[in-house]
Amino acid sequence: KNLQRDGEKLITTHCSYCGMQCGMHIRVSERTGEIKGVEPRYDWPVTLGKLCPKGVTAYQQIDHPDRIKRPLIKKNGEFIESSWDEALSLIERKFTELQEKHGKDSLSVFGGVSMTNEKCYLVGKYARVALGTRFIDYNGRFCMSSAAGGFNQTFGLDRGSTLPWTELEHSDCFLIAGSNTAECHPTSIQMFWKARDKGAKMIVVDPRETPTARIADVHLDLKPGTDSALANGLLHLIIKEGYVDQEYVDERCNNYEELKASVEAFTPDHTASLTGVDKEKIIKAAHIFGQSPRSVVMFARGVEQQSKGVDNVTLYSALALLRGQIGKFASGVATFTGQGNGQGGREHGQKSDLLPGYRKLTDPEAVKYISKVWGIEPEEMPKPGVSAYEMFDEIHNGTIKAMHVICSNPAVSSPNVEYAWEAFKKLDFLVVNDFFLSETAEFADVVLPTTTWAEDEGTTTNLEGRVIRIRKAIEPLHESKPDWEIFGEIAKRLGKGKHFNYKNPREIFEEFRIATKGGKADYSGITYERIDKEDGVFWPCPSEDHPGTPTIFKDKFSTPDGKANLPAVAWKEPGEIPTKEFPLRLTTGRVVYHYLSGNQTRRIDFLMEQCPVPYAEMHPELASQYNMRDGEMIKLSTPRSSMELEVKLTKATRNDIVFVPYHWGKELSVNKLTNPSLDPISRMPEFKVCSAKIEKL
Ligand code: SF4
Repeated sequence: KNLQRDGEKLITTHCSYCGMQCGMHIRVSERTGEIKGVEPRYDWPVTLGKLCPKGVTAYQQIDHPDRIKRPLIKKNGEFIESSWDEALSLIERKFTELQEKHGKDSLSVFGGVSMTNEKCYLVGKYARVALGTRFIDYNGRFCMSSAAGGFNQTFGLDRGSTLPWTELEHSDCFLIAGSNTAECHPTSIQMFWKARDKGAKMIVVDPRETPTARIADVHLDLKPGTDSALANGLLHLIIKEGYVDQEYVDERCNNYEELKASVEAFTPDHTASLTGVDKEKIIKAAHIFGQSPRSVVMFARGVEQQSKGVDNVTLYSALALLRGQIGKFASGVATFTGQGNGQGGREHGQKSDLLPGYRKLTDPEAVKYISKVWGIEPEEMPKPGVSAYEMFDEIHNGTIKAMHVICSNPAVSSPNVEYAWEAFKKLDFLVVNDFFLSETAEFADVVLPTTTWAEDEGTTTNLEGRVIRIRKAIEPLHESKPDWEIFGEIAKRLGKGKHFNYKNPREIFEEFRIATKGGKADYSGITYERIDKEDGVFWPCPSEDHPGTPTIFKDKFSTPDGKANLPAVAWKEPGEIPTKEFPLRLTTGRVVYHYLSGNQTRRIDFLMEQCPVPYAEMHPELASQYNMRDGEMIKLSTPRSSMELEVKLTKATRNDIVFVPYHWGKELSVNKLTNPSLDPISRMPEFKVCSAKIEKL
């Protein structure tokens, strides 16, 4: 298609929002340099010219009137515009004073993954080298950490997809669990439709009849928090009905006998009683999955944001393993990554216990290697810290005195969010990097204006593991700066400038390639030139003549013995179950019109017109028990807090749950209500289920 218009140039890049990273061009006026809009990339092999409502309007955030134009310093409770020098001098003074008085670990960093790989990599280095603190974690802890934990346990490697998504149209069966794909990753739906046109089947696991569940052959409408029971039940049937690829399992998996014993009790009747799903539907799903030659098990936060999220990931992954589906064409396991660079951003050292390339901070060889790359002594490398939510504990107990929040809005996205609000108020000093005044930025002492995705270049890694290029369309607007420049300025003032001497993102990428070399997420063979020429390169890619790895685990897994570890997981209830006082289950999720905490999408008129406020979605049968009608206001409470919401009635949901979307802040934040119970391995909070009650107002 000829997308070029007279007087405009097209900058080829990717959408700024979710992990689909849809290919697009930004239209820029040649005369004024202004951004005029976007066009989808019809030749981008993954999304083939599709954009969702967020992607189509993403450009409207760039020159939005709400952009923070200059650094802000809070004086007497009000933000006052300042110069960069004044803001950075204040940060230098406060950070130095606090560390002199309370030690290095009095500072902390809360990162994010809606940033390029170059920036994500530097966040870890900034925390550990410039600030010298062990307290760093990031918003992916609330997003992909259980997938990471489950993949590491099962496969020895955390890459969100074992196959390229261009193969999905050739699959015969999709088992999609805990993902409202049609709304959260809308441009992927065309892949499923293409496969369906060729006869592929779809099994959807979700408490709600989402637009995705509506097109399924079988919809397993389980009670929130019962995924491990359902997955155990499906595994039981796959074994009992003789669907196991025994040769594959014998050759490539450990622990089969233990798994077999652990699922023995999960008969269809028992599974149905635990999950609330009709047993005939469970049996039908197992037959469809078991008989499909090429199947893909896919899941998202519905499965992962639970206090047993890692168990759930290992069990759903085991379904693919028992069928011998991993490492083969159009088959495998994949997660729907939420944030734009949710894959790349978790590989480079923003996690409290990880260094770039998935190296472990507890591994002396890894510390030695990265110290050398960073030009510090291994003894200078801080020890592992704590997870994102646990950093709020460290603020409350007085250990952390200051925080630097980067590209993240935990004042909306944390569970039990009033606890986070109290923590922010307790801090001696809070710095926030953002281009809009987010709810978190409102708590800050200093806000530093950053560039949007169209004002800087770099790379991201999409949900397949494909490394792609983000290209600069315009120069930074107002006085904004890219985050990597800000880290360099602060580091210089703290006497660590020599470690942050970068002129551009490409120089950071070159260092990052060395830092990942030999690690599990090895980018060392990837260059900007290769990405341009090949339209993306899949990691691992250990040398410039390596083709990249679209399909992983073809011959062996990344565990020490090369075999996948099958789980043997006992059924456990979620952290909270319904009680007399709180008899319902609350679950939360996304809508198509908003992205994460809504800090960006709540400023776009078209998106707000479609979905201006959160609501309480419930079944008419449940509403009638409380004499509630559509459109009425109710009070929704959990053991932590309560909020007022409008009722939205739909038969497309279970009749014992309430669903609320989570994209709003302050009194409209459903995360006031969510449970901070953490998964013991991933430290993921249990956003997806807690006990609740409703009252008519
Ligand atoms: Fe694509 Fe996601 Fe952007 Fe929508 S939000 S256009 S699905 S990358």
